[in-house]
Amino acid sequence: MSRGLSRARHPVRAARWFAALVAASLLWAPLGAMAASEPAGADVPDEDASTGARRGAASVPEVRLSGLATRDIPGGIVLSMTLSEAAPFTFFTLDEPRRLVIDYVSSTGEGPARTPALETPLGTPRFGLFRPDRARVVVPLDRPMRVSRAAQVDGGAGVEFTLLQVSAEDFAARAGWPAGARWEAGGAPVPPAQPGDPRLVVAIDPGHGGIDPGATAGDVMEKHVVLAFAQRLARHLEASGEARAVLTRDRDIFLPLGERVRIAQRAGAHVFISLHADTVTEGEASGVSVYTLAPEATDAAAAQLAERENRADVLAGAEAGAVGDDVARVLIELAHRGSMAEADRLAEVTLTALNDEVELLRSRPHRRAEFRVLKAPGTPSILIELGFLTSLVDRERINTPAWQEMAAGGVARGVLDWAAETAPAWRAPRTAARP
Ligand SMILES: [Zn+2]
Repeated sequence: MSRGLSRARHPVRAARWFAALVAASLLWAPLGAMAASEPAGADVPDEDASTGARRGAASVPEVRLSGLATRDIPGGIVLSMTLSEAAPFTFFTLDEPRRLVIDYVSSTGEGPARTPALETPLGTPRFGLFRPDRARVVVPLDRPMRVSRAAQVDGGAGVEFTLLQVSAEDFAARAGWPAGARWEAGGAPVPPAQPGDPRLVVAIDPGHGGIDPGATAGDVMEKHVVLAFAQRLARHLEASGEARAVLTRDRDIFLPLGERVRIAQRAGAHVFISLHADTVTEGEASGVSVYTLAPEATDAAAAQLAERENRADVLAGAEAGAVGDDVARVLIELAHRGSMAEADRLAEVTLTALNDEVELLRSRPHRRAEFRVLKAPGTPSILIELGFLTSLVDRERINTPAWQEMAAGGVARGVLDWAAETAPAWRAPRTAARP
């Protein structure tokens, strides 16, 4: 695969590579054949899991999504996707919720500044980088439909998907991930744990990214705000000389929840901090809050928030559950008896430090819920809600560099205070196995 992609830099070779790809795929397949083979086909060549994704990314073209539009036809609808240049693509449908997923080879997830509004029965599309070499568009389907035809137009820069209504049973039978469409580990470069380095290793996890924007309000997107904050927090921690910061993502790219945890573990993180700025569906909340893992949520709002966050992978068209979730459960439960208490203390100390700098959520800023991303075995993990994008006050301050700087300084101080208070406990080898 990486060979194929590097060849693509040369136009003639690229054309040959593309032609070979087309021949092997169902891009030009006749109607019947395509309907029969969907969703098993995958036009986008698959990347070798652990090392190839990064290496290949350098030679992958930057194909931007220029637009999405629809037009009605008898019994269905045609969805037209326009790209900045021709790119190999694949598509498949997924059930619960019903959606059409389109992947194309690109090293950027960029698209139109304004999300195109599509006609019913298509919902609001999402787009973004899904893997270093692959961009994704997810289109919600209000009713069961199948892609009866996918054809390139305008020299390949345009792709038209003909969607026809089918029964719910028919849709369910066709829906599923094609081989190779699943997200694979290995996208983010993780500096390995360094034996003998006395510093505290802090994994900083900016929530969402790529195809998954997180909460959006006005022109503020959660995925951008938390990445900027993560970078500030990393600078504060590193500047202290007492900690080493490892980011789970350093750019606008999708990461499944399980992979975030695995990156922290590979880096030998002592502490895991996930960063978010979500919305509340009821009432008016504002200020910073810190969550720790617990099977019993603080209240209905906390439970709802965790449920929404835990569905991030599903909405992005990634795997429904992290690999090994069940296998690891026993280990996690054992390891968590210790680290949950440590995480509670970490949350308290961080909130105390933050309280000197910024405004906290008025009632119970330390909250609990069952977030999947907080389940790194043996690693005290907290999730910081920097504020709520539904609050105008929060939205403005979260987006302000001066506020971010104060809050990041507060979090860094809290984490370092906790490390000083609990040393040497955090240096002890963790009970759970690290993959
Ligand atoms: Zn979030």
